[in-house]
Amino acid sequence: MDFINIHTHKKPLVKNVFSIENMYPNSADFSMPFSIGIHPWFINKKNIDKELLIIEKQLPHKNCYAVGECGLDKITETNFELQKTVFIKQVLLSEKYKKPLIIHCVKSYQEIMQLKKTLKPSQIWILHGFHKNLQVAQSLLKNDVILSFGAAIINNKKLQEVITEIPINNILLETDNAKIEIKKIYQKVANLKNIEVLELQQKIKENFTKIFKI
Ligand SMILES: [Zn+2]
Repeated sequence: MDFINIHTHKKPLVKNVFSIENMYPNSADFSMPFSIGIHPWFINKKNIDKELLIIEKQLPHKNCYAVGECGLDKITETNFELQKTVFIKQVLLSEKYKKPLIIHCVKSYQEIMQLKKTLKPSQIWILHGFHKNLQVAQSLLKNDVILSFGAAIINNKKLQEVITEIPINNILLETDNAKIEIKKIYQKVANLKNIEVLELQQKIKENFTKIFKI
């Protein structure tokens, strides 16, 4: 069975991995499953409209699984209000093309939850690279946000506690840009959940199928 990796910036190098590669508006190779969005780090005011059009053009592509990563980041220099505007535009694209949204979030959890309450999207929101505490995890889950865990799970004790506590049906796994095989993340999570890797693979596949309506 495949290891599903829902967010990576690299082409998979090993077999038995299904991954969704993150693309940007200036990417050119759409031959593999991908998501596409404007990352808050790379917002350039004069290119926004043009980039949104490129994204919109790629969204119906058969290899396109999601909009994103897009989101809010309080550490990056991009003006926060502008980030919000660009994020909302991508939420609307996710709704229009009925594709889930992959979210990058740094110190903006309240804002993401507030926007979800206001915009009431019908598409699923996936918060990628989740690395906060149990309380934040629970409030996101309460707002029907899916949490995706990456390499931080290997050593981050607080995050390990989160995985142990939350139900398995609202999570996904990813490598993002870490130099790690997705298999290692599955092994760690299976170990924390006290289940076999194969059982975890089945559960993540069920989650994936449900979320991406495949
Ligand atoms: Zn990423």
